[in-house]
Amino acid sequence: MKITIVYDNEVSKEGLRSGWGFAALIESEKAATILFDTGADSSTLLHNMKELNIDPKNIEIIVISHLHGDHIGGLSEIMRINKTAQLYLPSSLRKEPPERKVTIVKDALQIGEDIFSTGKLEGIEQSLALKTEKGIFVLTGCSHPAMKRILGTASRFGELYGIAGGFHGFYDFELFKKLSVIYPCHCTQYKREILDFFPDRALRCGAGLVIELPGR
Ligand SMILES: [Zn+2]
Ligand SMILES: [Zn+2]
Repeated sequence: MKITIVYDNEVSKEGLRSGWGFAALIESEKAATILFDTGADSSTLLHNMKELNIDPKNIEIIVISHLHGDHIGGLSEIMRINKTAQLYLPSSLRKEPPERKVTIVKDALQIGEDIFSTGKLEGIEQSLALKTEKGIFVLTGCSHPAMKRILGTASRFGELYGIAGGFHGFYDFELFKKLSVIYPCHCTQYKREILDFFPDRALRCGAGLVIELPGR
């Protein structure tokens, strides 16, 4: 399984653009190609996809962590280009897309082989739990439901292995003690501190970063 950061506050690869928001593509041999969040604007999202040789038409599933602008900004344009990708949303959109399969996520559920949603936590946001050979890799949008809640829910799918995404104001770093890889992305307020606290395990995030997960 492979995660490519498509949209982030920072850039990890020359030629890509940064913007306040988050989007990541998940590709695996066993499951459908998933776009997790869509950034704040479609022009940055599509520019980065083009640079990364990602064809928006190949996306089969779009998962939205939560309905804040920096995560759904590119959604309508992606849906205009890609007429078939089904949606997994934490809440209904103001305008339901016609003729498209939409799942409003409440409880934890399986989205694809080795890919699970934590369910909508604290009434706002879902994260993904990806099953790898070494354990569960968590992908978060903004972590609004609080990290403890997200990790607790994700750990129901197995021993935790790593995490990437926006961590917001999270600073209880002890919670990450058992994780092997940590990528503080997007809105993470204490990026510098996390990188310093886990010098052997925390790595910089940015648009263009590719995370290869140990397959199962
Ligand atoms: Zn948010
Ligand atoms: Zn955000």
